[in-house]
Amino acid sequence: MENLQQNDVEIYELIRLEELRQAQKIRMIASENYVSSAVMEATGSIFTNKYSEGYSGKRYYEGQQYVDQIEDLAIKRAKELFGAEHVNVQPYSGSPANLAVYLAFLKPGDTILGMALPHGGHLTHGSKVSISGKYFHAESYSLDQGTGNLDYEAIRNKAKACMPKILIAGHSAYSRIPDFQEFRKIADEVGALLLVDMAHFAGLVAGGAHPSPIPFADVVTTTTHKSLRGPRGAMIMCKKEHAQAIDKAVFPGIQGGPHNNTTAAIAVALKEASTDSFKNYAAQIVANAKTLASTLIDKGFHLVTGGTENHLLLIDLTNKGVTGKVAAKALDAAGIVLNYNSVPFDTRKPFDPSGVRLGTSAVTSRGFSEKEMVQTGEWINAIVADPENINLQQDIAAQVATLCSKFPAPGLEHLSNK
Ligand SMILES: *Cc1c(COP(=O)(O)O)cnc(C)c1O
Repeated sequence: MENLQQNDVEIYELIRLEELRQAQKIRMIASENYVSSAVMEATGSIFTNKYSEGYSGKRYYEGQQYVDQIEDLAIKRAKELFGAEHVNVQPYSGSPANLAVYLAFLKPGDTILGMALPHGGHLTHGSKVSISGKYFHAESYSLDQGTGNLDYEAIRNKAKACMPKILIAGHSAYSRIPDFQEFRKIADEVGALLLVDMAHFAGLVAGGAHPSPIPFADVVTTTTHKSLRGPRGAMIMCKKEHAQAIDKAVFPGIQGGPHNNTTAAIAVALKEASTDSFKNYAAQIVANAKTLASTLIDKGFHLVTGGTENHLLLIDLTNKGVTGKVAAKALDAAGIVLNYNSVPFDTRKPFDPSGVRLGTSAVTSRGFSEKEMVQTGEWINAIVADPENINLQQDIAAQVATLCSKFPAPGLEHLSNK
């Protein structure tokens, strides 16, 4: 990055510091990952210079000889990998992808039904602070208070009561596998479209470690940068009959020119995600999450739903006498990075809730397996038991950095053993 160093030393140095941070810490924010150097190179490529409003073969500007080819490749790879009938790779990110789906099928004021945000849903599934809850009539379903699991009878009853145009499945903080067939039945019973937002678990689906929603949903949205390990972006997959509505909603409905550098990098990530090594990666993500879950459960931690079947854990810290925010800040100081998170039926405010959420997608990318998960669980336990102990935090942070140096993160290999 010699040019950057010369032209803008402030940004250059901040990037170098962030590289060190990502190299030396155990990154467990469930939505994050490490992309490969190949994905990074495509993201930073000269496709960032090109405008290409429209779709392959039907662009509004000239000079699309190569752009069309990268977009076609990205679409072809996504179709093959996920078995989708139609794919749009242009959404700038997961939130605009969902907005495009609403624009395609709804009028302002129409009803949508999604998982409540405090129960693990996403802002864009109808939260009152999001456009999805401001422009549409948003209803939500909750988890079962006893088990913390999805309660299909409750979802069915809610759907029958509010008759949504779109029923949304998918989540950001739920550690179980939804029953997509059951969601399909409910959608059919009330005449709703079924949208599955697989932003978090798309990589597990790609790698065969999670059931696919594609056969059941009318539309599937996903980010490309979470477990799928691609650049920051999104895709919408749908049945052929909805292809035109979706494409028109993305462009010109809510967006202008697609980010072609991102499209190139999505294509690269999809190629990587169709390999056997990615299958192993996806299986290891889940194995790591399960090992971390059982390690923490053995130490008296209360996991919402009692465990995990995917890449993430949601921990209710109430019985540990510490809030999510205090724990998250203490853990960050100790080199273990996660986020504080509401738990279902939380009695505390979202800005200082009762829980923390963590995920294993990023650490698995750097090669952590069961042994490192047990060690991480022991460190988490020690910090949560004594969150004010600065010496302990520094001591564990040093041990974390030593462990991390033995597992070079993708793209940051040059920083290992430093
Ligand atoms: C992360 C996420 C999104 C939004 O993605 P952004 O790229 O942050 O806009 C949408 N839906 C779900 C379920 C997510 O987890």
